[in-house]
Amino acid sequence: MSIPSNGARHEHGIGARSYSARKLQHLPLFLQRQQPEFEKIFEVVDAMPLDDTHCHLVTDRDAVTSPKRFLERISLAGYPVPFYFPEGVYERWLNGDEATKHALDRQYDIQSKVDDMTYHLAQSVFIKFLTKELAQFFGCDANLEAVIEARNDRGRNYWGYVNSLFRDVNLENIIHDTGYMEGVGKQEIETFEKAIEPCRSHRIARIEAIQEELFGLDVGFEEFESRYTARLLDIMDGEGNHGKKSVGMKSYLLPDIGLIRPLYDRKIASDSWRELRRTFAERSTMDREAAANVTKDLCRYTFTLTLEECLKRDLPMQIHTGDGEAPYVILRNQDPFYLEEVVRFDKDSLLRMPKIIPLHAGYPSVGKASWLSHLYPNCYFELSIMTPFVHQSLYERYKQVLEAVPISKVLFASDNYHVPELFWISGRWAKRYLSQTLTDYVVGGSLTTEEALEAARMILYKNNRSLYKLGK
Ligand SMILES: [Zn+2]
Repeated sequence: MSIPSNGARHEHGIGARSYSARKLQHLPLFLQRQQPEFEKIFEVVDAMPLDDTHCHLVTDRDAVTSPKRFLERISLAGYPVPFYFPEGVYERWLNGDEATKHALDRQYDIQSKVDDMTYHLAQSVFIKFLTKELAQFFGCDANLEAVIEARNDRGRNYWGYVNSLFRDVNLENIIHDTGYMEGVGKQEIETFEKAIEPCRSHRIARIEAIQEELFGLDVGFEEFESRYTARLLDIMDGEGNHGKKSVGMKSYLLPDIGLIRPLYDRKIASDSWRELRRTFAERSTMDREAAANVTKDLCRYTFTLTLEECLKRDLPMQIHTGDGEAPYVILRNQDPFYLEEVVRFDKDSLLRMPKIIPLHAGYPSVGKASWLSHLYPNCYFELSIMTPFVHQSLYERYKQVLEAVPISKVLFASDNYHVPELFWISGRWAKRYLSQTLTDYVVGGSLTTEEALEAARMILYKNNRSLYKLGK
């Protein structure tokens, strides 16, 4: 206790100068040591290959855009804008002539709601920072109008532009989820996959996409079950994922029901199927929670069936966690700890430990997702959504992840959707801020420089390749 109080008294005396001088001396020294170490690490990391373990395809519908439309398409809070209005209304407004627009505005006040939304989106640090980064890439002025003008210019050869973004961050493998494609199919997937070559494309399929094909069928439960299984096996072992095999599966169940308990009981599942048949006609106008309750047990059953098949083949299951496409998902259900029962997947007193990848870093519950991965050896950790949307804070977030999760389980991903800039900015920032995080460990003495570089290789591509058995 005596030391701080002496120090405090010295603040007013001659001793104070030497105390603060020592403090000041210490800081620049620390920075002087950190800066060259960062540059050394970053130079190597920036040139590394990159694998994206969870993302969605790009189509040419955003080849030409406007600042407002770009904000809407790239922002998590912006892209579900159609869901703020009754079904089909927003699309009619967007594609309608002046008279249609005017009539719909009078009824739903769409223009002013969209203006309000894009105004706030434009005021985010993420967009301001992204604008500067893109301006540097295009060599144009650092404002959104100039950036979109330069982008539209490149949009005349859109696939060439997309390819240049991939090359700039050195993307070598992507695993894209075909469960969110805005209504396009096989041909658009192939166009996209061709455009990003030599980057190799792999696909995963969503349980919900199979269910969507089958939930409308007026058949008995047994018939549903056998059709579901046939589709699933074709996706996993045949070419059922739009002409290709799936390297894993994806589930979107968590936001619907919260805690996922595996279900093996066919009787309970068939009761749920019958309830779905009874209420099917009203489904599109039902309250979202009520609709999720109807199919809850049926979906627990299809989930369990799917995870059993993944386990047999040692295929990973990606599960939507954290994040949240407001306004249609139930945010409170997305807690990473609600995945504990499927991570365990215990049966007959045995924990069977399928490979589970909670998505989106569990954001904003990053600490909980990290802790789940720390405790269960078969639970991985994926960095998307948090990457790129927390921008400069990625430096702190990556530290939060690495304080608990083994390096061997962390997987880079962008969750790219709609516009290709999300692939690019995620790669750019992941390499930069991961280097900054790793520099801290080197300067602090917890990793050697070589260990830090190996950690970057593992997180950016090696872990993905070994988990999905993609080869070197
Ligand atoms: Zn996704």
